[in-house]
Amino acid sequence: MAAIGLAVIAAGNVLVRSFDSIEIEQSAAKAEQVLGALEADLNQLAAVNRDYAEWDTAADYIASKDREFIDSNFAYSAMVDLHIDSEWLIAADGTEIQSRSLDKLNKQILQPAPRELLAAIDLHLKDLNALRAIPSTGRIVATPDGLVAFSAVEVARTDRSHPTGAKLVFARRIDQDVLTRLQRASGVPLSVQVVAGPLDTVVPAGSNTIQLPALPGLTIYVAAVDDNRIDSYFTIENMNGEAIGLFHTTSARSIGAIGRRTTMSLMATLIGLVVAAGIGIVMLLARLQRSALANQAAKRRHDNIVSQVSEGIVLAHPDGAIIEANDAAHNLLGYSDEALKHAGLREIFLDLPETVDLLAAQDKGKLRECRLRAADGRLIDAEVTVSTIVDNGTQLLCIMTRDLRVRRQLEQQEHANNRKLARLSQTDALTGLPNRVYLHKQLPKLLQETAQAESLLSLLYIDIDQFKHINESRGHASGDNLIQVIAKRLRSSIAAEDILVRMGGDEFVIVTSLMPNLAAVTLVAKRLIECVQAPIELQGTAITVTASIGIGIYPTDSIDMETLLKHADIALYQAKEKGRNTFCLFSPDMNVQLSEHVALEQELRRAIGTDQLFVEYQPVVDVYTGQLVSFEALARWLHPIQGLIPPIRFIPVAEKSGLIKELGEDVLRKVVMQQRKWLDDNVPLAPVAINVSPLQLERTDFAILVHELCLEHGLDPKWLHFEVTESSWMQESNKHIVALDTLRSQGSKISIDDFGTGFSNLSYLKQLPVDTLKIDRAFIQNIHTDSSDAAIVKSILAIAKNLHLDVVAEGVETIEHLELLRSFGCHKAQGYYFSKPIPGHLCRALLQQLGESRRLTDTVKIRAFKTR
Ligand code: C2E
Ligand code: CA
Ligand code: CA
Repeated sequence: MAAIGLAVIAAGNVLVRSFDSIEIEQSAAKAEQVLGALEADLNQLAAVNRDYAEWDTAADYIASKDREFIDSNFAYSAMVDLHIDSEWLIAADGTEIQSRSLDKLNKQILQPAPRELLAAIDLHLKDLNALRAIPSTGRIVATPDGLVAFSAVEVARTDRSHPTGAKLVFARRIDQDVLTRLQRASGVPLSVQVVAGPLDTVVPAGSNTIQLPALPGLTIYVAAVDDNRIDSYFTIENMNGEAIGLFHTTSARSIGAIGRRTTMSLMATLIGLVVAAGIGIVMLLARLQRSALANQAAKRRHDNIVSQVSEGIVLAHPDGAIIEANDAAHNLLGYSDEALKHAGLREIFLDLPETVDLLAAQDKGKLRECRLRAADGRLIDAEVTVSTIVDNGTQLLCIMTRDLRVRRQLEQQEHANNRKLARLSQTDALTGLPNRVYLHKQLPKLLQETAQAESLLSLLYIDIDQFKHINESRGHASGDNLIQVIAKRLRSSIAAEDILVRMGGDEFVIVTSLMPNLAAVTLVAKRLIECVQAPIELQGTAITVTASIGIGIYPTDSIDMETLLKHADIALYQAKEKGRNTFCLFSPDMNVQLSEHVALEQELRRAIGTDQLFVEYQPVVDVYTGQLVSFEALARWLHPIQGLIPPIRFIPVAEKSGLIKELGEDVLRKVVMQQRKWLDDNVPLAPVAINVSPLQLERTDFAILVHELCLEHGLDPKWLHFEVTESSWMQESNKHIVALDTLRSQGSKISIDDFGTGFSNLSYLKQLPVDTLKIDRAFIQNIHTDSSDAAIVKSILAIAKNLHLDVVAEGVETIEHLELLRSFGCHKAQGYYFSKPIPGHLCRALLQQLGESRRLTDTVKIRAFKTR
């Protein structure tokens, strides 16, 4: 485009220049016209000169000197008419016979003519023949008065007899008259000037010089004055070839201007067109490139797709010539591209009918079996579909091919997989026993069989007691191990035709069919409970677990599987309620109890966070001073209809459902707010111990929650103590330990609650973040009658002393309890003997006595609250 632009500009230049040169030539032509007119004018002078000189009357005058000739022929008006300014008759010896000159200013004749003018001409008069050969424009001389043209002819008779030797000389001034005539003849304005000195002083520098072929030796100078005018010049030379005069014409530059304008607009148009065309071309190219790229991408995609397809695809002409095949077809048949094209359709697809193209039209993608001949001659069983496609107006056959062997193999594999999956989905991975899926599949069949046999079928729902504790305290690996051992024991305790499935976790179901009566069923249940009870060796230590069993009987309890399972589960729940390690047969009233349990859970969920839940505080007392040491916070639920529900009923529900987390947080918040209130009322504080369930400690942020609550209410965490049951400590994971450690580092104290009832392993106490042991009230209750309980309490006190731990005896109800404990060296106690749990506002009096730091000599004051 740049090249085209440059070319256009260059062409424009050439065009402008050619317009210029036309103009220059035109200007030169004007000069030529002027020259022609001058020549004609001077030729006329020469012609008149010749007429007068070669005339008998003139020759007679030379002889006679009769003045009449002069007066009649060279009168003033005659000379004016003939444009002769001066005239001389010169004798053969060179003397002047006669001469006259026009004084145009005064309109008179001067006689003789001015001498100096003749002197300027005279030297050219020697050889008249030579003079004649010079063009009229060469016969000009420069005089002080300006340029003067002249002509000279020898005076002779018409017949050329009697030569005289005299000359008749005419002179014509190149004055305004001449210029006017020339102007009229040539139609060009002009002027003339005498040249005295070098030419370049009168001709503008940089003028174009033009040589006309018709006038060799004549140089025309052309120079543009400005954008509007152009001047041309030519010189007149004397007979010695010296420039003596300069003619000058001027004219308007019409052609050049029009040419330039035209060229400019032409160029502008052309450049505009070129630019437009260029933009168009660029856009077109961009578009072409885009569509080419898109085509390439589409082709690549297409190729990719075709090469990915697992079916072989062969494209062929209806006449059988193969055009193309994809990778899968090549792999299947083993032909090279060339060989495939050479082979042809019928040679490879053995079972395709001759009329395969018609077939394609009818087939519409129907599957048909067909043998294929591979490159190595072997036959392949395949499945093909034939369809037609139209490519560029030609109908082609598209044959999709799939190796049947692969499909058959895949089908077999799928069958095998399905069988395996079915087996796996009905098997428990840990024990290898069938699982609940299997039970759900088999039980309906068994029920049907039993219905026909008129015997009983029992469904025993078995759950290992306290399995969660074992799992948590000894780790999941031990838990798994335990499950495996028990699974084996259960299996070997029942008949081969009975079914044992693991339902998940620590739950098993046994189905014994064809039982003659209920007694037989209870016998089985007893046997199962016994087999579980035998000690189990876990990681080198022998432990004992128990199981609870719920039993549903078909058809007595239910005739459908789902209800039977549900009833057995309810019976199991009852067995647990009864204290575990036992079995229960389902009875319809159990159903009611269970639904009560569910209802309680729902109502507890709604009660948390409301006033229905509140906190009572039970004092812990120094047994020697009788002074208040701390409180234990105990949750209370005042149900709007059922009244006060004891914790023994709602805490297990909360723990089972996970609601204990919300409940615990509610208690914590209420305790903190109560202490804040005491602070605001300027009541001295005592620490309050809050019961924490292991589930709460699983929340990693429990300690943070305590910290934030204390911060929010401006309470020092040292006023909060936490009680945790023994089993919480026996975690394999140290999550709980970390939480308790954090609580302790915040200033709180930690107690082990119900100490002595769990899987006591006293050796671990040393490593735990613990401050206090709370001896379970079961040991206190019979402390003065049961010597083993007393021994346990004593040994706990000894260990605690050893480990510098505090001890609180729980459930101190009588003075006997108190005195015995005191004698054992137990410092702190809690129980109805001192006070039942009391509402927060009643604690105030006790706390105020703390402030008075009055030593309480007896426990009367605290016991005053007992009556509440
Ligand atoms: P615990 O932690 O062992 O609490 C002491 C229980 O013994 C309280 O029963 C208390 O009223 C009772 N008690 C105190 N002195 C005597 C006595 O001299 N004789 C007898 N027979 N009992 C006495 P309560 O209030 O019914 O609470 C029962 C259990 O509920 C508590 O046992 C505790 O494990 C649980 N619990 C109560 N409140 C909460 C709570 O806020 N969070 C959690 N996680 N558990 C709580
Ligand atoms: Ca407690
Ligand atoms: Ca306790």
